[in-house]
Amino acid sequence: MKVTFPHFGNTFFAAKAAFDGLGIDYAVPPLCNKEALEIGSYYSPEEMCLPFKIMIGNYIQGIKEGADTVLTTGSCGPCRFGEYCELQMDILKKLGYDVDFIVFDAPKAIGKEEFLRRVSLISNASSKSNNEQIEAALNGLKVINLIDDIEKIAHIKCGYEINKGESKKILNSCKREIYSINNPEEVVKRLHEYKRKIKSVPIDLNKKPITVGIVGEIYTIAEPFSNLYIEDKLMDYGVCIKRKLSPSWWVKNTIMSAINMQSLDIRLASRKYLPLYIGGHGRECVGETVLSKREGCDGVIQIFPLGCMPEIVSKSILPTVSKDLNMPVMTLIVDEMTGETGYMTRIEAFLDLLERRKSNNVLSWS
Ligand code: SF4
Repeated sequence: MKVTFPHFGNTFFAAKAAFDGLGIDYAVPPLCNKEALEIGSYYSPEEMCLPFKIMIGNYIQGIKEGADTVLTTGSCGPCRFGEYCELQMDILKKLGYDVDFIVFDAPKAIGKEEFLRRVSLISNASSKSNNEQIEAALNGLKVINLIDDIEKIAHIKCGYEINKGESKKILNSCKREIYSINNPEEVVKRLHEYKRKIKSVPIDLNKKPITVGIVGEIYTIAEPFSNLYIEDKLMDYGVCIKRKLSPSWWVKNTIMSAINMQSLDIRLASRKYLPLYIGGHGRECVGETVLSKREGCDGVIQIFPLGCMPEIVSKSILPTVSKDLNMPVMTLIVDEMTGETGYMTRIEAFLDLLERRKSNNVLSWS
């Protein structure tokens, strides 16, 4: 068995650590890029959402590196994600790729027995003992939690750092270094060291940086290529970023959903505006916007792919939230045709607006 999987933010670090621990061969597709999008757009239905297309590109790139099994996650809907794996299997089959799919979904959705059967497809391919397999899975979890934590700290520190660009430099060097290590224990050890390092970046608390909340469709906000690297750009501008939805959040949320205790804070925050589950992370988008205000954000950017049904619903609610909370909210919609120049112009204009509002507030209180 040689496994490949789609990119989704930092998950490939965790998947690599887990497969290294399990002793299972794998092919990490190249980081999401134009080529993956072109391949995916060519073979996917035109009206399909962007994550689907990029994932198809990832699979084909992984298969070309020798993978014979695709590991992915699924859902029972109600948005298009519920159809992803069936359609993707069909597309790859029609293209003549003879690959197996292992689709992980919440046990609540597919049943405990089916979930364990799918887990056994992976564990049977490993020659490691049960204890070693559990350790490999735990190391994967540690890796995703640590790298997401480091990224979160860097996203705040970048607004206060004394040496411009230091947090981003540490974050990038952390990612580069851990990807080159094949020993999961060593990866976890290095991540702890990087966490200490990023925490000790010198800061100037007299600075008053803008803080922006990033909300929207989970794949698009967590996968940098699909949002045209917005967080990298905001870091360069010295803007603090708050984004709750990440792969580690997704793992915790999926585990907690077994006892219906997932994202309680977000659900409570969204109750006034959107009390129902509408698929994707539409409800989370609204709840997070409310929480962003409470957590001191100066504005919120919603990002989602063209045609994303749950986010279209959230988009129609956000102007009311924005008015009630007196906080600007901007929506960016991305697809394979999005041009970087226009995209950046909108972000810069929004940051100017937040900057002006912030300095007016400071002046009126001084
Ligand atoms: S949440 Fe939106 S982008 Fe994601 S699968 Fe559903 S419709 Fe597509």
